[in-house]
Amino acid sequence: MKFYDAHNHLQDDRFNGRQSDLLRDCATAGVAAMVVNGSCEADWPHVLALAGRAIEPAAIRIIPSFGYHPWYIHERTEDWLEKLALLLAAISGVAVGEVGLDRWKPGLSYNGQEEVFIAQLRLAAERNLPVSIHCLQAWGRMFEILRTEPRPTRGFLLHSYGGPKEMVKPLADLGAYFSLPGYYAHERKERQRETFRHIPRERLLIETDAPDQSLPDARNRFPFADATGKPLNHPANLRGVYEFAAELFEEPVASLVVRVEENFLRLFGNPVVRE
Ligand SMILES: [Zn+2]
Repeated sequence: MKFYDAHNHLQDDRFNGRQSDLLRDCATAGVAAMVVNGSCEADWPHVLALAGRAIEPAAIRIIPSFGYHPWYIHERTEDWLEKLALLLAAISGVAVGEVGLDRWKPGLSYNGQEEVFIAQLRLAAERNLPVSIHCLQAWGRMFEILRTEPRPTRGFLLHSYGGPKEMVKPLADLGAYFSLPGYYAHERKERQRETFRHIPRERLLIETDAPDQSLPDARNRFPFADATGKPLNHPANLRGVYEFAAELFEEPVASLVVRVEENFLRLFGNPVVRE
């Protein structure tokens, strides 16, 4: 079976240079492809390097994705948007993200978030690139922006969707895909699980969001920690997230694998057919 990770951060510093080991485990665990999301100018080169390297075993396709995450936009330089546009133009099979809006994180300013998000959404729309969106406690504005701004005609990803159940249909009508993280297997996440039961079949994706959003311990087959012993989510836990999803949708893993593959390739593109 082939598993597709719609959203992770393999480049993250907390992995402390152990990416080759992680990828080896992922290959053994059946991971076929992953979208690796950059979050700021400082980590874009790391994402690029991961996408360009020869991986042994060479089974895993890395889709590089570049964007300014709302948590880091205060770090942006004057020519950040030009740099981003150049990266997107230079690489085939590229994606935009992680981008978005966040009114949840304590102490984070909302100033500039919409402007930075819209500029990146427009870049994705112009090039019809898949875009991965983070949204916390800003769903009203997010919906308005997605409704009124140009969008990539291929669609867009709402990663770890945690918005209202009632917005699923209107967002899907705009082209949204929704990815389920293992974190929603935690008992207290019943509202999010209930929301995911309403996601249209052809719009579901699965993600690890590694190194964050770990599965509950009982489902975590790849325990991993940073240099200080703090637990990290290993991207090879992807299969465990599929198993959680299969239980949630009361569907065999084998059929879930097939439809998630179709959804993933529809949004992120097929590696054989170059655009
Ligand atoms: Zn993320």
